[in-house]
Amino acid sequence: MNNTFLASIGNAYADEILFAARIYPYRRRSTLKPEEVDALYGAMHSVLERASAAVAGRMGDDIHVKIRDFLQVHGKGGEPCPQCGNTISQITANQRLTNFCRRCQV
Ligand SMILES: [Zn+2]
Repeated sequence: MNNTFLASIGNAYADEILFAARIYPYRRRSTLKPEEVDALYGAMHSVLERASAAVAGRMGDDIHVKIRDFLQVHGKGGEPCPQCGNTISQITANQRLTNFCRRCQV
């Protein structure tokens, strides 16, 4: 979740990428195993590709409209996880909303 590690990914996509990579959002970079770093980069590509496919052709004249109905965890605190059915957690810290699954993400 640290923007100094990777700038320009907003917290909605950060939530989605971490969910896809099955990584707990408050892990420190130094604790990630090489295969987890690989999973993170793979998830970055797959989530952003899926997102651009999902919003392609749906953006109107207002580029600030956020199309987010395809997101799996971001903004879904209290709802069931799409993978395991566990309740999605929601934490607000430093004016940033973070959603994740405590069961799927370690
Ligand atoms: Zn889950």
